Amino acid sequence: MNLQWLPKIDFPTTINFNITTVIDLLIVAFVMYRVFLLIKGTRAVQLIKGLIVILVGTVVSDWLHLYTFNWILRQAMTALVVALPIVFQPELRRALEKLGGGKFFAGSVFMLEEEEKNTMVIEVVRATQMLAKNSIGALIVMERGTGLEEYIDTGTKIDGKISAELLVNIFIPKTPLHDGAVVVRGDRILAAGCVLPLDESPHVSKALGTRHRAGLGITAQSDSVAVIVSEETGVVSLAVEGVLTRYLDEASLTEHLNNVLGTKTTIGLSSLWRWR
Ligand code: ATP
Ligand code: MG
Repeated sequence: MNLQWLPKIDFPTTINFNITTVIDLLIVAFVMYRVFLLIKGTRAVQLIKGLIVILVGTVVSDWLHLYTFNWILRQAMTALVVALPIVFQPELRRALEKLGGGKFFAGSVFMLEEEEKNTMVIEVVRATQMLAKNSIGALIVMERGTGLEEYIDTGTKIDGKISAELLVNIFIPKTPLHDGAVVVRGDRILAAGCVLPLDESPHVSKALGTRHRAGLGITAQSDSVAVIVSEETGVVSLAVEGVLTRYLDEASLTEHLNNVLGTKTTIGLSSLWRWR
């Protein structure tokens, strides 16, 4: 069998177990575990399955002396290796950003002040209740560690203090900024009318349209969190890491956001009388 493109590894003939070997193995296990966590549930899983199929095909065709087929598979493999960084640019970028931000080793580092995060959660939750009650479609993305500048640039810059009133106002139908997503960072609304990447997975329910797919797409490609209010049903959903949780009421949305963002907000009395 001739697999030139595989790196040649000289395995030691006698294995000498000492403390360095143990540390070496632990580091490799840890890195593999983190890489697995990174790609779990992403498009990379499908790709790895595809690579395994080609790899098995190459070995089997070599074994059966199917030279032409073997040659084609080898060329496909080479092309794939070149195409990988291009296709997975967002994922690779996210992984490197995590590494750089120290998040590869620790949990999420959310650089914002506690107070800013609390304000964001309280105002976003308050806005969703008003939007849902009036069946106004909305998509609010909360930026965290991964910068969303490239998506902010597709919309209209606002950079205003966050408030539920302003959020609701932005999404009122037929107004210039209502189409697309709002991006918030802590207690600032950065931009509105932003165009996000769509989740094109065939596994997403057919009942969900582009608004929900945009929320899934951005949270799969970054560590941001998206709240979606359906225009058709008024249902409030939360997207985190490309996974959607639907049918959230005020309390459950608050609880989910507190869990994900590490905030400790409660449903304020103000929200009870303001939006009655
Ligand atoms: P709803 O339940 O509100 O109908 P939906 O998931 O069925 O939501 P659509 O009906 O397709 O989605 O919603 C269309 C709206 O979604 C658009 O008017 C636009 O505001 C928003 N939207 C569509 N694509 C994107 C995108 N790529 N980025 C941001 N927002 C988008
Ligand atoms: Mg729709």
